[in-house]
Amino acid sequence: MFRKLAFAYGTLFSPRSLLPVRMSSTDVNKKGILADKVAVIIGSTQGIGFAIAQRLARDGAYVVVSSRKQENVDQAVALLKEEGLSSKGMVCHAGKAEDRDKLVKMVANQYGGVDFLICVAGVNPLVGSTLGASEQVWDKILDVNVKSPALLLAKLLPYMEKRGSSSVVLVSSVTGYVPVPKLGPYNISKTALLGLTKTLAVELAPKGIRVNCLVPGLIKTDFSHIVQDEDIINALETLYAMQRTGQPEDCAGIVSFLCSPDASYITGENIVVAGFSPKM
Ligand code: NAP
Repeated sequence: MFRKLAFAYGTLFSPRSLLPVRMSSTDVNKKGILADKVAVIIGSTQGIGFAIAQRLARDGAYVVVSSRKQENVDQAVALLKEEGLSSKGMVCHAGKAEDRDKLVKMVANQYGGVDFLICVAGVNPLVGSTLGASEQVWDKILDVNVKSPALLLAKLLPYMEKRGSSSVVLVSSVTGYVPVPKLGPYNISKTALLGLTKTLAVELAPKGIRVNCLVPGLIKTDFSHIVQDEDIINALETLYAMQRTGQPEDCAGIVSFLCSPDASYITGENIVVAGFSPKM
């Protein structure tokens, strides 16, 4: 079983070259449900973030992709443009205040406002015991995974509230509900995001800004290579009912929906996309 899973999760992982996800019924649609909206997606040059950027753009939005590395940003923008989609890109390390400030400035100058903020960037520098985690590891995980969405949103707020129907989507993980062994600080950061979603939803409702959270299960990306650890595979094995791992595109449609007018009365929800429903 281990070999089967290692094969499924390891050798078949989509390399960067396979990233242009399969075309669907929502292919390029300049007048789609998100037409003329501006979406900023943090951590979006590959994997789940790229699939979300691609889907929002296919649904008509102008998308701003970002990540830590210029070459990845350039590649993602080129892939979107090849498809005729409207996109800009900028380096933004989610954990760096100066990068967040530059991004806000660029978006304000280029578009004048922002309709959607999708915070996908997440890190996990540790596979090991929670109490063995150094202060540096805790700081990195909490800075990028938990603090950065709140700090960026604070800066973008003036550009979002004037749009009238803005939407924020955070990205947690099922490990926020069901802790996976050896990923302690990461699990905890993802639980914190479930709470951040609810708190921000309450605070921002009077401003007409909805805040929801995508909660993925195991999705085939470079990041999910961590599941080659046998303990983690065993823990995940007990959870999966649909007998397949997810694809980044499995996470994209729900984010488009959460941004769309169809979700105009939905806020504070943590929505699991995992092929199973985690028990608390
Ligand atoms: P991925 O394929 O490794 O992609 C991560 C993306 O984020 C890349 O574009 C990367 O580009 C960028 N990035 C990484 N660190 C960043 C930072 N500090 N600031 C800005 N951008 C950063 O990962 P993924 O699987 O799509 O994961 C995305 C999110 O989903 C994470 O929050 C993760 O916790 C969550 N998630 C994933 C799974 C899964 O099974 N894959 C399950 C549950 C939750 P650069 O390298 O250029 O920065």
